[in-house]
Amino acid sequence: MVEVSQGEVLVVGAGIGGLSTAIALRNVGYDVNVVEIRPTYLGQSAFRLNIPRDPEIDRIILQNDPKGMAGFVPIGPDLAYIFYNTTWDKDVRLDRNDLAEVLREHLAPFGGPAGRVRDKYVDDPSRIMFHPEEWLIAPPPWHSGRIVLIGDAVHAVTPHLGQGAAQAIEDGVVLAECLAYHDGHEEAFRAYAERRYERCRLIVESSVRIGEWEMDPAGNGDFDHAGLTQHVLEAMVQPI
Ligand SMILES: Cc1cc2nc3c(=O)[nH]c(=O)nc-3n(C[C@H](O)[C@H](O)[C@H](O)COP(=O)(O)OP(=O)(O)OC[C@H]3O[C@@H](n4cnc5c(N)ncnc54)[C@H](O)[C@@H]3O)c2cc1C
Repeated sequence: MVEVSQGEVLVVGAGIGGLSTAIALRNVGYDVNVVEIRPTYLGQSAFRLNIPRDPEIDRIILQNDPKGMAGFVPIGPDLAYIFYNTTWDKDVRLDRNDLAEVLREHLAPFGGPAGRVRDKYVDDPSRIMFHPEEWLIAPPPWHSGRIVLIGDAVHAVTPHLGQGAAQAIEDGVVLAECLAYHDGHEEAFRAYAERRYERCRLIVESSVRIGEWEMDPAGNGDFDHAGLTQHVLEAMVQPI
């Protein structure tokens, strides 16, 4: 068990399961206020698969069909990943062994890069990940006593802007700065959440908006996907 003594703080980055961590800490005697903010399921789930980076994947590429959005993201000189976001009833469970077959079925209507990747690389179910897309944005405070939350525990984001991990890292940087430049931990924790909240809220809410559009393009005919993405990326290059 972790002991938090005078002069120390406990930084908890327990992901979207942060609530259960908070409850566990309270159960073993820490003075933790548990604010129950449950994640919301967007209505989409995502397939993910790392693939060799073929020359045509020279940037982020998106390809949609009426049932979902396929995309390619370069992540290294020789490595990329394909994702496929699709509307999914959360209660429908997938057997891990069926992942390749189900992903191939979903990608069946695609030509272009998605069709080529389907035929070349979607064969081994153990290499495919399948996750529900959930979100939450907790209003500050993000601390209780000497315990402070970072990352998905306070701002879980759907993957539509590829910014969730970046936000968790930024939290760490800002929190370290606040602890260095403020006298007491309470003041530092408050300053940290104040600096982070609006930026994280923009990412969370914009990602949800893009997901809603992906699930129902016809019903969101006036949605400006490129414009919103541009707006968020311009905000993300501002100092934190
Ligand atoms: C399908 C999908 C695709 C995504 N794609 C992208 C992307 O392309 N780019 C991007 O930037 N972000 C992406 N994200 C978001 C990104 O994964 C998260 O925002 C990021 O991982 C959050 O980091 P974290 O450290 O807060 O939480 P996590 O990465 O969830 O880490 C929390 C860790 O805490 C551990 N833990 C939990 N409870 C306890 C406990 N009680 N004791 C000990 N350990 C505990 C967990 O096991 C876990 O290892 C995606 C998310 C999803 C669901």
